[in-house]
Amino acid sequence: LAPILLHFLYSTATPYTTLPSVLLLGPPGAGKTALTTLFERGPLDLPLAKTHTSQVPSSIELSINSDDPSSASYKTNLDEAGATAKKFLLVDTPGHPKLRASSLAHLNSAEPTIKSSLVSDGGAKSKIKAVVFMVDAAALADGDALPSTAEYLYDVLLTLQKRFHSRNGSRAPASMPVLVAANKLDLFTALPAALVKSNLEAELGRIRAARSKGLLDSGVGQDDLAAGEEGDWLGGDGSEKFSFAQMMEFDVDVDVIGGSVTGDGPGAEKWWKWIGERV
Ligand code: GDP
Repeated sequence: LAPILLHFLYSTATPYTTLPSVLLLGPPGAGKTALTTLFERGPLDLPLAKTHTSQVPSSIELSINSDDPSSASYKTNLDEAGATAKKFLLVDTPGHPKLRASSLAHLNSAEPTIKSSLVSDGGAKSKIKAVVFMVDAAALADGDALPSTAEYLYDVLLTLQKRFHSRNGSRAPASMPVLVAANKLDLFTALPAALVKSNLEAELGRIRAARSKGLLDSGVGQDDLAAGEEGDWLGGDGSEKFSFAQMMEFDVDVDVIGGSVTGDGPGAEKWWKWIGERV
């Protein structure tokens, strides 16, 4: 009996430390805290938790139906449904510009990991399987928020791209899916996801041009830039226009999907499914 019991104990005890993570990034006010609360509690009829003002990432543990993530809903009570649950951590990061560097530092290695507040074992880290970059599609509509949102996204994507170059040996870094979650689509002033995508791509292209001009002015040669190896040139080729598809060369797969956390909008199901397929 003892071996059977031991086997049972081993197979059911999943230590926290092995859970994968999904990193939640984005500018302040985008709705990161609201989303975290929604996924944790289900549909929101309660007042939202206060925005995340702490200086460290906070995480929640979530479960998704691993039998069929595409049909899963964060509204389903998995225990009642009798489904096999796949667990992961959603790690909410502070969006304040001064604290971004520490959020980005987690992505800066071939196998990105994070030590979250839920990882109880001192030394262990959780593997980052995907990044959700949340934006406020209503704020993007009036243009003011576009430059600062795109700056942050540029740094996220560039960090993931550089990770590709800084790999050790021949082993390619793990591919990293990125979801740009266009939030607040319940507001009629919000940009639809397709426009969020094209506006961000255009702005990222402008930032890329401005940064490479800065490098040229500082004496870095055109050849160095064209080589695209290091530096701040986002995306592989030297093409004029930036598109998210250019990130595929670095195994960074970007999707832009619209949704809403509150109000009468499309909801958050599509984001939940996207996450479920990647953890
Ligand atoms: P964070 O700074 O990214 O964590 O943003 P919060 O989660 O604190 O959200 C900022 C504000 O946006 C709050 O007042 C939320 O109630 C509001 N908000 C979040 N999601 C939505 C949404 O889908 N629609 C609307 N209309 N407001 C939202």
